[in-house]
Amino acid sequence: MRILTIALFCCALVTACAGNKPETEMKVSIQSQMEVFKGAGYEYDSVVSPNGRVINLVFIKHGSIAIDIDGYMVYVDPVTMFCDDFAHLPKADMILITHEHHDHLDSVAVDLLSTDSTRILSSKRVAEQLPKSTPVAVGAEIEIESVGFSIKTVPAYNISPEHLNFHPQSRGDFGFVLSVDGMRIYVAGDTEDIPEMETLGNEGVDIAFIPVNQPYTMTVEQAIHAVGMLKPGVVYPYHYGQTDLSALVTEFAGREVDVRVRQLQ
Ligand code: ZN
Ligand code: ZN
Repeated sequence: MRILTIALFCCALVTACAGNKPETEMKVSIQSQMEVFKGAGYEYDSVVSPNGRVINLVFIKHGSIAIDIDGYMVYVDPVTMFCDDFAHLPKADMILITHEHHDHLDSVAVDLLSTDSTRILSSKRVAEQLPKSTPVAVGAEIEIESVGFSIKTVPAYNISPEHLNFHPQSRGDFGFVLSVDGMRIYVAGDTEDIPEMETLGNEGVDIAFIPVNQPYTMTVEQAIHAVGMLKPGVVYPYHYGQTDLSALVTEFAGREVDVRVRQLQ
């Protein structure tokens, strides 16, 4: 397990500075952004990168999450059926859309969160339906130099023979690894426990978001296998619907993996 400092506050005190914004401006901006989420009733965890930068992980619902990196706001698969607050939440600097299913792609949410400068990255199939998004292939690496982080897209697909049509590998759906100062956050997308997770685990994963709902993604048993391959310090089961997660929690209780269940059903 990689060394990771995790702080569980709902109000992060931020001392770092990113990009070209003055430090005082960033402090106000980040704190007020998190206050907006908190005021709207969303939980978030704050984690600290090896360089001391605060990253806030906001749990919206299902596959919809937001990641605040020093005030740079990344939304993942924002969907209005899971959140009717997008008009009032902080605007997106980046929106990532992993694939075309309706619980991940919602142009209304994208419009509500976007400004003229929002960068929208998606799978190729999503870009065909959402022309303002930029298609990204699996395996692409995107550097956000102004903030100091990178995103690498990774495969997400079904492997159970009877479920292959949900997320066929050939379609180019993706998950991604977001790297900040060497800290790696893996958001798996809609996938089963694919062999590529072994490689990701060997490369190092600090935090993993793992989908747990069959028939579309994983059973609890598959999720346990996935976590075994990934060896993260922290796991957030997400996209879990009505799945009973108790066996996943019990499996890793007292071990080096911290399984955190948040409002990501
Ligand atoms: Zn899907
Ligand atoms: Zn889904």
